[in-house]
Amino acid sequence: MRKVIIAGNWKMNKETESAVSLVRELKTEVRDITDREIVVCPPFTLLGEVKKNLCDSNIFLGGQNMFWEKEGAYTGEISPLMLKDAGCKYVIIGHSERRAYFGETNESVNKKVKTAFCYDFIPIVCIGETLAQREKGEAFGVVEKQLREGLADLKVEDFSKLVVAYEPVWAIGTGKTATPLQAEEIHKFIREILESIFEGKSEEIRILYGGSIKPENISDLMSCQNIDGGLIGGASLSADNFIKIIKFI
Ligand code: PEP
Repeated sequence: MRKVIIAGNWKMNKETESAVSLVRELKTEVRDITDREIVVCPPFTLLGEVKKNLCDSNIFLGGQNMFWEKEGAYTGEISPLMLKDAGCKYVIIGHSERRAYFGETNESVNKKVKTAFCYDFIPIVCIGETLAQREKGEAFGVVEKQLREGLADLKVEDFSKLVVAYEPVWAIGTGKTATPLQAEEIHKFIREILESIFEGKSEEIRILYGGSIKPENISDLMSCQNIDGGLIGGASLSADNFIKIIKFI
């Protein structure tokens, strides 16, 4: 049985005051939830403050990105040791915005995923096609390449800890959500590819959907057999919406 993950990606949003008020409300409202893993991924500058406010809670902390080197002359980067020190358990890797604006490739994703496992993080590895790729009928091919290259040569003991997030680029921040049918079609395909890479382990790997999830569409998406949770951007910035999403039935 795969435990559902609901993860909020705040992206480059929030400063201390609004971050603290959001997580305080969240902490109180979700304190009795034990059947889902709840994660928040604030910007790096807020990790310390958010961690402080989440102590003794059932909410985990995640980074939005991470470099593969542990320390050194890499101005502007964040290392696995730093994320550990800040209290992160999860790390988002290869988000489509990182791929589109900051030159992330399947190769850099692969290095980061290996580093994440090396430092005992749970990586949330993002994949997904653009609108142009979908319209050309390339969605399945793109996703397969991202999986095969981004997840190459992992250690057997890490297979089941992996989390994949399918986030069609055309659905991120656009208000357009993949229909449950569209999402499940790709999620099922992703699990088949994962099975061919990680023989016998694909049923343990959580595959999240991301792309304009809201309180109104979470339940339908979560009713799909191969959707094991959500990576939520915009709607995770509001305590009210994020709480409703976490508490979907
Ligand atoms: C995301 O950035 O991971 C995301 C899914 O964003 P949104 O929910 O705003 O579409």
